[in-house]
Amino acid sequence: MSKKILVVEDDPKNMKVITLALKPHGYILLEATDGEEALAVATRDNPDLILMDMQLPKLSGVEVTRRLREMPAFRHTPIIAVTAYAMSGDREKFIEAGCDAYLSKPINTRELPALVAEILSQREKDRV
Ligand code: MN
Repeated sequence: MSKKILVVEDDPKNMKVITLALKPHGYILLEATDGEEALAVATRDNPDLILMDMQLPKLSGVEVTRRLREMPAFRHTPIIAVTAYAMSGDREKFIEAGCDAYLSKPINTRELPALVAEILSQREKDRV
């Protein structure tokens, strides 16, 4: 069955780059453009993986990640942090909030699907 990926991104241009990079791989793509919508779509559609922009309106990516991790349904859902500027300590902050991996912008359109596939297959193995 196709995996569902929730892309949380407030910049339409970045959203397009990300969804275009993932589309050929057969995923079902869900979109959210702010932190509150991210929580709403995640709880409604239960994605297999979440790509989380860290700079978001309403709720930051860190806050959304923390809230998701508090819900039993999202305790183990892979969350990849995406950010344009990583200052020293940011990466640690994202991992501490519950992110599994980290990607910096501008999005590398080859690296992104490779990382997503790797994390999804790792998660399958962990379940067996
Ligand atoms: Mn943003």
